[in-house]
Amino acid sequence: MNINVTKSSLPPYEEYAEEIKSLWDSHWLTNMGEKHQRLEAALKDYLGAEQVTLFTNGHLALETVIAAMELTGEVITTPFTFVSTTNAITRNGLKPVFCDIDPESYTMDPAKIEALITPEASAIIPVHVYGTLCDTDAIEAIAAKHGLKVIYDAAHAFGVKKNGVSAANLGDASMFSFHATKVFNTVEGGAVICRDPAIKERMDYIKNFGVHGPERIVYPGGNAKMSEFHAAMGLCNLRHLDEWLAGRKAVVERYRKNLSGVPGLTILREQEGVESNYAYFPVVFDGAKYTRDEAAERLAAQGINARKYFFPLTNHNEAYGFRGEETPVALHISERVLTLPLYPNLAMEDVDRICEIITE
Ligand SMILES: *Cc1c(COP(=O)(O)O)cnc(C)c1O
Repeated sequence: MNINVTKSSLPPYEEYAEEIKSLWDSHWLTNMGEKHQRLEAALKDYLGAEQVTLFTNGHLALETVIAAMELTGEVITTPFTFVSTTNAITRNGLKPVFCDIDPESYTMDPAKIEALITPEASAIIPVHVYGTLCDTDAIEAIAAKHGLKVIYDAAHAFGVKKNGVSAANLGDASMFSFHATKVFNTVEGGAVICRDPAIKERMDYIKNFGVHGPERIVYPGGNAKMSEFHAAMGLCNLRHLDEWLAGRKAVVERYRKNLSGVPGLTILREQEGVESNYAYFPVVFDGAKYTRDEAAERLAAQGINARKYFFPLTNHNEAYGFRGEETPVALHISERVLTLPLYPNLAMEDVDRICEIITE
């Protein structure tokens, strides 16, 4: 059997069937129905968040919060991410300004932000990659000094806590993706957590065409609503999340045990005071027995699909003009990083086999 980089988590079939049964009574399938309301409330509770708005996916959640904040001009961001982050900025008519990353956490390097701030800048959009948090204190101090908003792409960070508090509550807003491949999924889905109730209200209009009652349109919105079937999946999956996080942690501990100290391999450091969600297990190949590409090929030959995640950089492709040299640390990491298979019930013997293939 092939092993993929991830395997979507599902609740027991009967649990989901039971959850969606009431939809055959109500015939209310979407448009902020009972499941949608319950999932928003459950997430508010789980994340300790003031405001939660659900979306049909993480990308539209990010596009919508950028629109709701009415940002202008330039946005400082990282190229070491999934292209969604960069596209969400560009599709709002804004210019992404690429900041290099820190070589240990792979998140935006706060020491390089200020040199990129021009009078046109309106926000910073950093990304918590692999479940590792950005240096949020440093980033938010710079933002406050220059009057910039901070929106975190927290697609990888659902369930991560800093000093016991959910990472969802950092900055002005955070976006989560609930895509099938993420730690917590609603098949497709996403959410924005924000502090300002006026931003939540505007997002609620934008995700539903700007409709305010049957005869009023108050905003030129689009459609980014989460359906009742997706919200029902979220209600079920949330009940299993703790068990899945524990399963992921066990796999990560095994990888760490097998791979720490192997010459030429760098594995992610644990962050002090941070409780990770063990979303991904990236390994950087720099002077190891095999290069990243050789390791990926050796795994593929055994039916094991690791991913070059994130490669290429978002600023190093035709859409953004092949400008990776402007962010040399990010370019270096992206050419050497491989994300190994990781999901809650990945067998320990498979973890051991994967480690052998890339080191022997
Ligand atoms: C998955 C992901 C997104 C997009 O989320 P979707 O729910 O797939 O639209 C954005 N940013 C990052 C970093 C992601 O990993």
